[in-house]
Amino acid sequence: MKILLIGSGGREHAMAIKIAQSEHCKQLFIAPGNAGTSACGKNVDLKVDDFEGIGKFVLNNDIKMVVVGPEAPLVGGIADYFAEREHLKDVMFIGPRADGAQLEGSKDYAKMFMQRHNIPTAAYKTFTKKKLKEGQKYLTKQKAPYVLKADGLAAGKGVLIINDLEEAQKELEKMLVEEKFGAASNSVVVEEYLSGIELSVFVLCDGKHYKILPSAKDYKRIGESDTGLNTGGMGSVSPVAFADKAFMQKVEQRIVSPTVKGLVKEGIHYKGFIFIGLMAVTNAEGELDPYVIEYNVRMGDPETESVFPRIKSDVVELFESVWRGDLNQQSLDVDERTAACVMLTAAGYPESYKKGDVIRGLDEVKDAVIIHAGTKLNDKKELVTNGGRVLCVTSLSDSLPGALLKSLQGAEKITWKGCYFRHDIGQDLLSRENS
Ligand code: AMP
Repeated sequence: MKILLIGSGGREHAMAIKIAQSEHCKQLFIAPGNAGTSACGKNVDLKVDDFEGIGKFVLNNDIKMVVVGPEAPLVGGIADYFAEREHLKDVMFIGPRADGAQLEGSKDYAKMFMQRHNIPTAAYKTFTKKKLKEGQKYLTKQKAPYVLKADGLAAGKGVLIINDLEEAQKELEKMLVEEKFGAASNSVVVEEYLSGIELSVFVLCDGKHYKILPSAKDYKRIGESDTGLNTGGMGSVSPVAFADKAFMQKVEQRIVSPTVKGLVKEGIHYKGFIFIGLMAVTNAEGELDPYVIEYNVRMGDPETESVFPRIKSDVVELFESVWRGDLNQQSLDVDERTAACVMLTAAGYPESYKKGDVIRGLDEVKDAVIIHAGTKLNDKKELVTNGGRVLCVTSLSDSLPGALLKSLQGAEKITWKGCYFRHDIGQDLLSRENS
């Protein structure tokens, strides 16, 4: 069949590689894609929020399956756009409708959902502009650090963690009154701070059944030892060693299963990925307990770049099963090896950065996969930078140090003016294992 994948980042290139490998995929289109995805299929110049354009393209090209990478079109209702149109409703659509996408589109909605279904998460209260004074008073009763979250989508920037009470009160005012994050901060969730170690768990859901995909950990800050500004993600590893069988059993029993059951109970037909951001918190017995930090309604980026290379099953078969609602009949075959992804970024990122620098050295990278994020071919058909996160190197090995070494060696071979990457991806997990 012909398949359309929507998005243009590293996540989409990692997905495109697997989709193109499927024997069920006759032709893959990627809208809009990047230079990397053009090696897996045909890039189509359509914006991810151009539902009408995407719908027409699907009809004109006899596309049978659509897979959505990023959250914005899902929260904007692209799945509903397809479901509500006679000629599009039978296209196999992988991605939740707007009701399910609220799990990511509104932090307040997600918190209420977790409360309704007894899913462990940090205690919280939500405030609007009218309740600013109440919110500031509420903060005085909380312990530092204070966690303030813009309710809506804020491109990963809407969470503030502040140590000082007065500053937290001021920031709350900025978010609610001065619309620091635009309409996204018309409501603000004030949340208890959870101390622990983070990881991401991914679930593929057919509306009733689910498969838990490999776990991963990403690295958000620009600087080594997790310092400096937040980024879209500087690397990832999969699996996460501390997420052992006992821990994952807790995740499934306390979080994944009640989440899927909750969706069913609330009449939400959720067909797509659920990305659960977790904090593993040490309890009184010294064991790790999982708490939900956030839901996302798509795969993570850069986690997909280490999770997807480990999936050995035919992903198109899994997606077909998601559409039919018989995911329980499928098995998920995962590569036991560890994957490590190191992201290479443009100079200046995550602040302002230049585009259009020529990228060299890709041919010298051996025994690793290069996954493109912000890349394109210029008029001279040279590969150039076209984003802050430019590309990443993912390697697989029997051990985490082995995978990290291969990815770092690969990253060293790639150059452009000001190319930067972190050398310490995964080191926290190694120190933890060795302690
Ligand atoms: P979110 O967008 O909700 O994932 O939040 C962004 C980041 O803020 C998370 O990846 C965590 O590192 C941190 N964070 C969010 N909520 C909490 C919390 N309740 N306690 C501690 N850290 C948090």
